[in-house]
Amino acid sequence: MSEEQSVSSESSKSTENLDPVYISEQQFDLAAAYVKGLKRGLIDFLKQPKRINTVNFPIEMDDESVVTIQGFRVIHNRVFGPTKGGIRYHPDLTLKEVISLAKLMTWKCALVNIPFGGAKGGVICNTKELSEKELRRITRRFTAELSNTIGPHIDIPAPDLYTNEQTMAWIFDTFDVLNPGHNNRPVVTGKPIEMGGSYGRHEATGMGCMFAAERFLSKGLISTQPEIAGAHVAIQGYGDVGGVAAREFCRKGAKIIAVSDSQGAIHQEEGLNLDEVEAFKAEHGTVVGMPNTMTITNNELLELDCDILIPAALSDQIHEGNANNIKAKLIVEGANNPTTPGADKILKEKGIYVIPDIIANAGGVTVSYYEWVQNHAHEQWSYEQVTERLRSRMYDVIDCVFSRWQRFAVGEETITDEAITEEKEPIPDFRTVALIIAIERVARATLVRGIWP
Ligand code: NAD
Repeated sequence: MSEEQSVSSESSKSTENLDPVYISEQQFDLAAAYVKGLKRGLIDFLKQPKRINTVNFPIEMDDESVVTIQGFRVIHNRVFGPTKGGIRYHPDLTLKEVISLAKLMTWKCALVNIPFGGAKGGVICNTKELSEKELRRITRRFTAELSNTIGPHIDIPAPDLYTNEQTMAWIFDTFDVLNPGHNNRPVVTGKPIEMGGSYGRHEATGMGCMFAAERFLSKGLISTQPEIAGAHVAIQGYGDVGGVAAREFCRKGAKIIAVSDSQGAIHQEEGLNLDEVEAFKAEHGTVVGMPNTMTITNNELLELDCDILIPAALSDQIHEGNANNIKAKLIVEGANNPTTPGADKILKEKGIYVIPDIIANAGGVTVSYYEWVQNHAHEQWSYEQVTERLRSRMYDVIDCVFSRWQRFAVGEETITDEAITEEKEPIPDFRTVALIIAIERVARATLVRGIWP
């Protein structure tokens, strides 16, 4: 049994329905109940994916055997423009997970005000058991299968779990071979710098988590922790998002007391030396076993006594079964969907604030958008230009969500009369407020465009 499965079996101790589509609909309904004048027909339209593409294709393995691989690309909503969303490679990937992540992308793009709709894709495969050549063949064939449905003005993939700059370079190259004679660089983001990637894209998601937390803490809701400096931080997942978040929080004066990967977690109360963690991970392929650290499980990491917890790996990690044991004052969702609706309720009752994925990890798609703009304009912005724009946009998003949340907190705004759920909380949490803003923007744009024909 893989480590991924063992973590999800910890999750299954909870009696919650963890169907990803059910969860995203619960979150949508909760937020839609606060949106004025949202008609049933529009609600149905906003909930449904526009298009689901499932492809099965053969791949020749290095030992000359042939296996059939399945991949998905889901387009949720195109009201704001071409669709945008990552491609993940994972052995446990399901279509339902991809649908729920495509929806999340629509709301995320609307919240951060970038002119994209939401999409997501993935391939069912275990990258740890594949050679580089096999991965390249899978990526090229998957891209060819999608070829006329992706494009610089149609649908623009990006990296996600177990895909990276190399994967994006293969996607670009394949698309470019099949569609010669155009500037095809904007077909995919998260590319290597030498292939039209943007400075700061690799850092964007983890750095965005830091900017979001920095701005959120400055609002003073957590009186004992008005800034990142001095915070004890635990991070689940030490990949693109978690690894950069560790560096960025450390740069702002936090102590990283625990990090983890699929093999387990390491803990050091005095604060980890991140150079040593990276050197150890590069040599051994895992952080587990690093000298002078205590090995703990991924679940124990989540329950550590810390100020800020950053789940930056898989979904459903904080659930009804462990939410009561969380001790952090603030959760910053680097991963997508790491907290279940049942856990959200418990955390709210416990007074633990959550900066939800729709805000916290939006730095990734924000800088992907900057990469797309640079590719269209044949420009290359400096690292400083990109990260300053990212900081400003992340601050704006926190300010916008926080001021709307305050309107609920002081009773200036309440749930609608025609509320469609039983959940009639007077003060919604930050996830719900962020979703309210995003749903309002997409609903308004849909009506302003007019229903065609
Ligand atoms: P990644 O593949 O670079 O890293 C994933 C990390 O999670 C690895 O360290 C891996 O060992 C660890 N991991 C895997 N299974 C685990 C388990 N069972 N328990 C603990 N750790 C485990 O992926 P990433 O790009 O860093 O993405 C992480 C999360 O962030 C995903 O949910 C992804 O959707 C989300 N996200 C990523 C981006 C981005 O720009 N990369 C943007 C937005 C959201």
